[in-house]
Amino acid sequence: MSKREIEVLLPPEVAYDEFARYRALLAATGLEPGEADFVHLRKRSIDARGRQPLVRLRADIWLTPPPADTFGPWFQYSDVSRARRTVLIVGAGPAGLFAALRCIELGLKPIVLERGKDVRTRRRDLAALNKEHVVNPDSNYCFGEGGAGTYSDGKLYTRATKRGDIQRILRLLVQHGATPDILVDAHPHIGTNKLPAVVAALRDTIRAAGGEVRFDTRVDDLILDSNHLRGVVTATGEALEADAVILATGHSARDIYELLHRRGVRIEAKPFALGVRVEHPQQLIDQAQYRLQDRGPLPAASYALVHQTQWQGKQRGVFSFCMCPGGFIVPAATASGEVVVNGMSPSRRDSRFANSGIVTAVELEDMDLAQHGELAGLRLQQEIEQRACALAGHTQRAPAQRLGDFLKGTVSPELLETSYQPGLVSVNMEQVLGAGLADRLRQGFRDFGRKIPGYATNAAQIVGVESRTSAPVRIPRDRTTLEHPEIRGLFPCGEGAGFAGGIVSAAMDGERCAEAVLAGF
Ligand code: FAD
Repeated sequence: MSKREIEVLLPPEVAYDEFARYRALLAATGLEPGEADFVHLRKRSIDARGRQPLVRLRADIWLTPPPADTFGPWFQYSDVSRARRTVLIVGAGPAGLFAALRCIELGLKPIVLERGKDVRTRRRDLAALNKEHVVNPDSNYCFGEGGAGTYSDGKLYTRATKRGDIQRILRLLVQHGATPDILVDAHPHIGTNKLPAVVAALRDTIRAAGGEVRFDTRVDDLILDSNHLRGVVTATGEALEADAVILATGHSARDIYELLHRRGVRIEAKPFALGVRVEHPQQLIDQAQYRLQDRGPLPAASYALVHQTQWQGKQRGVFSFCMCPGGFIVPAATASGEVVVNGMSPSRRDSRFANSGIVTAVELEDMDLAQHGELAGLRLQQEIEQRACALAGHTQRAPAQRLGDFLKGTVSPELLETSYQPGLVSVNMEQVLGAGLADRLRQGFRDFGRKIPGYATNAAQIVGVESRTSAPVRIPRDRTTLEHPEIRGLFPCGEGAGFAGGIVSAAMDGERCAEAVLAGF
């Protein structure tokens, strides 16, 4: 077994053409085509710092056949239908699904309870939301099989590198149908058109191994035996008991936070982030980032921006979040009477628009803790979402303002074309956000305009509100056992509990919770 490792910088037209790339990699190694058994791409990233963007590739050139496990399958699942221990997992988002798979690997039987519908049926409710402005409180962009990550950009990079094995999560996704490119790209993503099939394959694996996944099954109550959680009660009144409960209901399950509060299970108010989504022509971002009129074979350009602002003597960050190149803005409300936006992209990222959340931190001191206690952040979030809906006319049309007008403080006489399907209404966004948040966002946008030419102008518009970036509530847990500090048998998990942000970190947290459940027996 022998291989050579190589790193090269290639022009995009060579790097993205399979044959030209193969020849260039061999040439760089000094090999003739017949001398290599296999070329295995290991890493791909874009270096846009020079005059012309280049693509940096790392590859293994195998002179003999590579080991059998180089391309998977990497994971096998034994039958757990008769396992001695069962685990209830509430929520089929990334945290819940990956917790279920890990339970199976560990010999535990998972029963996943999901309030929404299977990934295919869910699509109809998304169409009704986009076209008829009807919000189904159990089936929408946040709720349903695959969770909030299903109809998304499917970005898979995370800064939570110490919280688990990222490569393991990516391999699991590849084994369930995601493109192997995600193992190679510096900023991997799957795309909203490809994610549903991957999510369905994850569910099929759980069921094939004897686990259960139940849809249209909303958990409405807890079976608490003094300080021990024995199980849950569903909306139809069915009581289900198990050896442990992993609660992975995501940051939008407000009824779960209310339920915990009502049943005396300790929760805590937590800082979160709130702002708007900004939409530019993708071409403007491509030109700024690549300095090319036409990006050619290069992927739609993205950006990551951050600025420290001063507001009433306090430092607050303003940053871009969940940037979706070549994407769409989507309605992410989970109840009628509120407007929430988020972003998604297809795998080819080929829409004419670039959108990104631009948000600022909301700290505990910004909330009315005296009046609302642990739910203060949630109430503030709700209040702004409801104001967005009211000011834009009580439908799913979203309030919007051209960015240059927002900076000047004038209402836009006309809005731009948008990817947001329900439509936009011209509104003074300061009225939606309040003066404090609006002022911080303005400071951020001005700084971003200095970093990206054309960014902070009327060529862009802001759409509100981007309010579901992170959970406004934490469900505490012990650092070692991952169990709630006061309630035995309850394992708060994923983004809703405040321990993850994004698909990969939620998946890793799901795996950790499954491991913690086993360790607790
Ligand atoms: P969730 O995914 O929120 O899953 C929770 C699940 O619990 C849901 O399916 C919900 O229906 C279910 N549930 C809630 N309450 C109950 C109940 N009472 N009973 C039963 N089930 C219940 N992250 C990225 O990393 N990359 C992206 O590109 C990206 N894009 C996004 C685009 C959009 C439009 C949205 C909304 C989010 C995006 N995110 C993205 C964020 C990402 O989706 C979340 O961070 C991630 O899904 C959190 O995983 P989770 O499993 O903790 O929670």
